[in-house]
Amino acid sequence: MLELDQLVMDFSGFKAVNGCTFRVEEGSITGLIGPNGAGKTTLFNLIAGALQPTSGTIRFLGEDVTPLASHQLFHKGLVRTFQIPHEFHKLTALENLMMVPPAQPGESLLSNWFSWGRVKSTEVDVEKKAYETLEFLELTHIAHQRAGNLSGGQKKLLELGRTMMTSAKLVLLDEPAAGVNRTLLRKLESKIELLNKERGYTFILIEHDMEMIEKLCDPVVCMAEGKVLIQGDFQTVRSNPQVLEAYLGE
Ligand code: ADP
Repeated sequence: MLELDQLVMDFSGFKAVNGCTFRVEEGSITGLIGPNGAGKTTLFNLIAGALQPTSGTIRFLGEDVTPLASHQLFHKGLVRTFQIPHEFHKLTALENLMMVPPAQPGESLLSNWFSWGRVKSTEVDVEKKAYETLEFLELTHIAHQRAGNLSGGQKKLLELGRTMMTSAKLVLLDEPAAGVNRTLLRKLESKIELLNKERGYTFILIEHDMEMIEKLCDPVVCMAEGKVLIQGDFQTVRSNPQVLEAYLGE
């Protein structure tokens, strides 16, 4: 589904990503781990089109998407979880879901505004989908609460919900476990698993919570100093001496 070939991101002489090569298979949940400063966030920014690589290529579903910007990738189904934007904190959970553009050609909100007859039915469809999404996430009870008042875990679930409002195929999750209490963490894990197994979403997630990585991810890719150190199943990666060394040097 995704092929990274010799990706380099050079920041004025410092290579935050330094020849990164790996593939993500359709239907997988790939865990991206590594010590602080390994280049994981920079790699996510490259994949999501927020940064242009200095060299190397990114192929998504067989197409060279290296020069594409994030909004173009979004329309192709490559979506990074949206942190709930600050200005949306005053909107309810339901409204936050309804604000997400659908990412399907010809379905932009703008084109709908111009065809009066369709506006109403589109709004109804979007609202229905938003309610279904809340139901799937077991968040119906907070539908009308302001997003700013939700707990850390509920916000993470809502972020996942915003992804579900799009036609996402590959979803990049940036530290989904951070700031989430244990109970909601289990729920978040099970929803990611369901989206993967039953709805066909492929995920790449950056995570420091090794329990989550162990539970959800295969393969696990460990980065250090801008490179892929090792890739394999959780046990193989965890017991690799180079991985231990990379973390000890953190
Ligand atoms: P990780 O997410 O694995 O902690 P990052 O991708 O955030 O790693 O950072 C990798 C390295 O690149 C770090 O040393 C960081 O300081 C550096 N870096 C990240 N972004 C920039 C930037 N815009 N300019 C210069 N250096 C950067």
